[in-house]
Amino acid sequence: MANCYLCNKILTIENDHGEHIFQQALGGTLIKTGILCESCGNRLGKQIDVPFVEIFKNYISRLPINFDRKSKNKTFTEEGDIFIPELNRVFKFRINKNNFLPICVDAFVHDGKLIILYPKGMPEKNLEGLKKDRMKYFGIENSKNVIVIRDFNKYSENIYAIPFNLKNIPYKQGMAKIAIGFAIANGVKPEELECVLDFDNHKILQEIPLLPYMPWDFINGAIEEVRFSSNDLRYLCHQIKLFNLENRLFCYVEIFGTFQCYILLSEKYNGKGINQSYMQPIFQLKREELSFLPRYKYLLLYKHLLPEDEKLEYTENTLKKINNATRKQPNELDLDEYYSDLLSSVIINLELVNSEQGKSLIQYDDLKLFYENNFELINDSKVEIYRRLCFLSSNPHEIKTDCYWDVLYQLQNECKDSVYNYNSRKMKKLENMIKIIQEDKEHFQVWDTEY
Ligand SMILES: [Zn+2]
Repeated sequence: MANCYLCNKILTIENDHGEHIFQQALGGTLIKTGILCESCGNRLGKQIDVPFVEIFKNYISRLPINFDRKSKNKTFTEEGDIFIPELNRVFKFRINKNNFLPICVDAFVHDGKLIILYPKGMPEKNLEGLKKDRMKYFGIENSKNVIVIRDFNKYSENIYAIPFNLKNIPYKQGMAKIAIGFAIANGVKPEELECVLDFDNHKILQEIPLLPYMPWDFINGAIEEVRFSSNDLRYLCHQIKLFNLENRLFCYVEIFGTFQCYILLSEKYNGKGINQSYMQPIFQLKREELSFLPRYKYLLLYKHLLPEDEKLEYTENTLKKINNATRKQPNELDLDEYYSDLLSSVIINLELVNSEQGKSLIQYDDLKLFYENNFELINDSKVEIYRRLCFLSSNPHEIKTDCYWDVLYQLQNECKDSVYNYNSRKMKKLENMIKIIQEDKEHFQVWDTEY
């Protein structure tokens, strides 16, 4: 019998909330019972999920997320803040057809230059007049000193990334709620989550020990570099990993392939080895249904889709059952398989980079640069790196578990520039992935459909 992790009430069919581990508005499809009661689930939904989901509103509205009717009615204001380094200034933007547009016409002088914001879509014919008028007003004589900004598209990686602000409580609590739900679903007791949960006072803590993920070592760096360089749609997934290092219980959470963090859930964990992971695409996976029954000897390949005691009869009814089950398969991907594939690419690139000829085969410049920058390290410890890569490719669940909290915490503070650069690249990559999906909308069957 399960109890609600907040109020400890016994959960029954009547009062079980049926918790979406990843928030439904983020496209989360994993639902677990035995986590929260109806009243606590609703309360946390309002207190934690709503402000958390709001952080991602600019992505949610442009991704093929499977909204239900209720959440579809929610209108997100597609506005946000964007930082323009050249002007050292933050602007408000709105999104229109994947363009990041200034929200209004504006003009000001920066560094002796006249900057005019004139959103795309505004009548072209008025621009010249405005330019002249503003030049006169600000006393700018040479039109070479006028810069007109029509959109902020090339700055899309600078969208004000609230999540990376460590003081952001809704972000931390939202991530913690995902982690807590997953931990409870995997048999961890609420009392064992003392770093994130105030069990006696029935609440999720405000101070969450959360550390944004950053690839600090060669292997993690290489994995992320391969992810940056590829258009594999598995990039856009939600991932979660629950693991312990002795008495410390951690959770790694990743949203949209971009927002990655470690959360320390407990320092008093009983130490029993735990290593659970889950990965889901944010869109509905395509499941190939059979149009006719395969030859009898191939029918066995589909047996796992049917109930265990089901006899395999060679009838239309069986075909129907197989197709039904195919449709109902969980919308889940194999996280280990994904990381195995990534590791294979890392190994192949490592081999390529060692020969002049091979190096030219690496198409993606950043990837090439990454290997070049690490050339010494690769040469000095080639055997060690290969050994580690081979180990990980047969134990992909071990990746990212080298979580030495205190060391990572210190690195984050010491290398603010690398952290900023990494996060900027993540935002840019997310924008690229959104573009790929938008260009191929019809491929994602559930895009904008009601069901
Ligand atoms: Zn409750």
